[in-house]
Amino acid sequence: MGPSLIGMELADIAAVLGPDEPAYRARQIYEAVYRRRVPSLAGITNIPRDLRRRLAETASVGLPELQQRYDSADGTIRYLLRLQDGLMVETVVMPEDGRYTICISTQVGCAVDCKFCLTALMGLERNLTTGEIVGQVLFAALDQRLDPESAKLNIVTMGQGEPLLNLPNVLKATRLLADPAGVGVSQRRMTLSTSGIVPRIEELGRAPTRPKLAVSLNASTEEQRRQLMPVTRKYRLSDLLEACRAYPLRPWEKLTFEYVLLRGVNDSDADARRVARLLARLNCKVNLIALNPGPGILFETPEPERVHAFQQVLRRSFPCFVRKPRGLDIYAACGQLKRMSGGSDAGAAGLVPLEAGVAPRHPA
Ligand code: SAH
Ligand code: SF4
Repeated sequence: MGPSLIGMELADIAAVLGPDEPAYRARQIYEAVYRRRVPSLAGITNIPRDLRRRLAETASVGLPELQQRYDSADGTIRYLLRLQDGLMVETVVMPEDGRYTICISTQVGCAVDCKFCLTALMGLERNLTTGEIVGQVLFAALDQRLDPESAKLNIVTMGQGEPLLNLPNVLKATRLLADPAGVGVSQRRMTLSTSGIVPRIEELGRAPTRPKLAVSLNASTEEQRRQLMPVTRKYRLSDLLEACRAYPLRPWEKLTFEYVLLRGVNDSDADARRVARLLARLNCKVNLIALNPGPGILFETPEPERVHAFQQVLRRSFPCFVRKPRGLDIYAACGQLKRMSGGSDAGAAGLVPLEAGVAPRHPA
């Protein structure tokens, strides 16, 4: 197979071609891979056939392969994609009112171990390469015939993994996705969601091309967050909020805080008031997500009335939205990505984790 062209910058492609090729060849290949989204070397017909053949000996385009596709009744599509080493990763496409959000993974599994998240049960298998991150977007755009340059497409890193624990690859992928000569998704239409890896937030803030920042808050006190998100032991909530206050927002940018509501755990009016106090000095909006349930997750989803009441409290201080669950019936919703598989027409009830034996998970 060899290295994949997807994930390479122009200079990387030039290096693969070697010094004997004219400089414009690398640009032709770059354009074919990222702009025209040609799925195989044979399809790059604007370069000589001999070169195509020679290239095929050392490299491939490197799109992920479709293992399985799941279609939700609400229009959400979940792809289970196979990587070159046979590992599988998930990408979700959510169409809504003519707009599309592509939700990509940045790691296979996740090491962060949030107590309400199904991905956490996998542990971390490995980081995705730059090419595997970009490849998910190219795959989804090809399959759905989407034009990434259109203002109607957004990308969020809310699939499997903690993007700030794979930051170099995520940043290189962001540059490739944002390049107007390539894929052409504006950095304003990309959002990176993190559990709060404080030093990496600072590093992200220094990157010239970077997605918008969303922080998964999920708790209203230091202690509560430690219970729900053990990462808080290492990166305290107070330090996380300090990093958010110091974060260099661009003029068009606001921070987003995500908050998963767990019935009877972090969903009271008192929690909402504490959240408002925590975020008081920040230019931000808040997205509420009622827990998406899953096997092995022992928390419960609050009633819609509770979610609404929580939102009402926060609305006095910030724009606050309730995120509609998408693709619940196909295990595509937030926190549900664990490579559930089953017949292509199986509902949630028919889906089982690919690996056997899900240990029941107790609220900490
Ligand atoms: N690791 C990153 C991005 C992937 S998780 C992060 O944690 O931010 C994407 C979002 O899904 C996060 O906001 C997370 O808090 C939320 N989430 C995790 N498990 C969930 C669940 N079971 N129900 C609803 N949202 C969940
Ligand atoms: Fe990892 Fe995000 Fe899930 Fe936490 S919520 S375990 S950081 S994917």
